[in-house]
Amino acid sequence: MTKENKTEFFTDWTYAPSPESTDHIKLNKQYDLFINGKFVKPNSKKYFSTINPATEEKLAEVALADEKDVDAAVNAAKNAYDKVWKKMPAAERGKYIFRIARLLQERAREFAVIESLNGGKPIRESRDVDVPLAANHFFYYAGWADKLEYAFPNKKPQSLGVAGQIIPWNFPLLMAAWKIAPALATGNTVVLKPAETTPLTALKLAELIRDSGLPDGVVNIVTGFGNTGAAIVNHPKVNKIAFTGSTDVGKIIQKSIAGTNKKVTLELGGKAANIIFDDAPIDQAVEGIINGIFFNQGHVCCAGSRLFVQENVADVVIAKLKQRLETLIVGNPLDKNTDIGAINSREQLQKINDYIKIGIDEGAEMYQSSCNIPAKGFFCKPTLFLHTSQSHRIVQEEIFGPVLAIQTFRTIEEVIEKANNIPYGLSAGVWTDKGSKIFNLTTKLRAGVVWANTYNKFDPASPFGGYKESGFGREGGLHGLMPYLQF
Ligand code: NAP
Ligand code: MG
Repeated sequence: MTKENKTEFFTDWTYAPSPESTDHIKLNKQYDLFINGKFVKPNSKKYFSTINPATEEKLAEVALADEKDVDAAVNAAKNAYDKVWKKMPAAERGKYIFRIARLLQERAREFAVIESLNGGKPIRESRDVDVPLAANHFFYYAGWADKLEYAFPNKKPQSLGVAGQIIPWNFPLLMAAWKIAPALATGNTVVLKPAETTPLTALKLAELIRDSGLPDGVVNIVTGFGNTGAAIVNHPKVNKIAFTGSTDVGKIIQKSIAGTNKKVTLELGGKAANIIFDDAPIDQAVEGIINGIFFNQGHVCCAGSRLFVQENVADVVIAKLKQRLETLIVGNPLDKNTDIGAINSREQLQKINDYIKIGIDEGAEMYQSSCNIPAKGFFCKPTLFLHTSQSHRIVQEEIFGPVLAIQTFRTIEEVIEKANNIPYGLSAGVWTDKGSKIFNLTTKLRAGVVWANTYNKFDPASPFGGYKESGFGREGGLHGLMPYLQF
């Protein structure tokens, strides 16, 4: 089949557009800071624009919090902790968290559309993954609020105080839920900062929290840039820092809290190995590879960005992968047929394109889908790199985009060695028919999560977190309660 014929064949697969409506969405022109249960103007009097990365159109103006604003938010959180939240019976605290979960479910469609508008991710994902999982996190941790003594028998768990929480742009609402739900369940109060490019669902969550009747000051949400985050980290009344973001900023945070008695959890970058053995169900594995790296445009810390295929099935896996790449629909995040939406920002697109150039310069063979991408907005074609090696930068460094580096291997020992030979250790995937092989690998791969015959699956009950430069501490499950408690 010639390339032309192939493209013709695949054009038969085009779907009629199926865009999700935005009529029901209410966005303000301007958003203030959510401090002590109210939206208040920033001390700086400054606002910044937040855009839709798929169209480059402005969605709203958002307040820029400076040190004084952060101080007001931390004082509100401390006051709410001392006067209300710490003293409240745990079962009552649980009821508030349940209420937040239910309100989020009721308003799921609105949150999903705003998440896709502001972040660029396909509506199918924000509707089926981000928003339901965020609600499930609140449900799950609501259940723990009055059972902490059973979770940690004979240990007398105590809350810490004010939790400062800083989150990235790839799962804005879900990361806010991962942070806020366990903090509240364990009796702490919160100051949360969303990422600069994706503040809107966190601000919508602030409205929802206000509507839930949660006592004033228990959750405060401040928007801004990196120095707003730094002001939270350095505030003396903050007792615990929960950070998800890049390894570079994680290191800065660790340095700045050294010598204080602040507790910290860091969820940082990743470069996961997705390993396909010759006895794997090949078609499912190909779907797993696609889901592993192209889910959310590859803006996933645990993305399966390094593929290891056993040599004797490499040709067939790569051929199927190339074919599947052609059928992926790249474009409007609000269209229900879209598989790959917009890259989150111009800067991130630039970073991904720089790495694609580095890959070519390093001598790897690039293969991209022949799809068209929209002229406006930040889009990237799904990209494979063949014939890569361990020393390539595209194999060692986190790209955080829809770019897959492919290597082959012969033996289990070889693939374990290669998979672990990386500064990161967040996640991995294994595809094989043999349970024994799965158990062999799960014990030897230095990764916090190992998926077997699936990829990118999350559940509030299971802990998540990294080894090495992917950070420390666990979020989710029973383990996710511990960083918010002292014993
Ligand atoms: P980032 O630049 O580290 O930013 C993360 C958050 O930290 C943002 O809210 C950011 O604010 C803030 N920040 C920036 N400088 C700061 C400072 N000096 N002190 C305190 N806060 C500061 O990361 P990103 O580009 O947003 O996200 C991508 C990275 O996050 C990737 O490396 C990815 O692997 C990692 N990530 C890890 C996980 C995980 O669970 N392990 C999950 C998701 C993402 P601004 O946005 O305003 O700059
Ligand atoms: Mg940043």
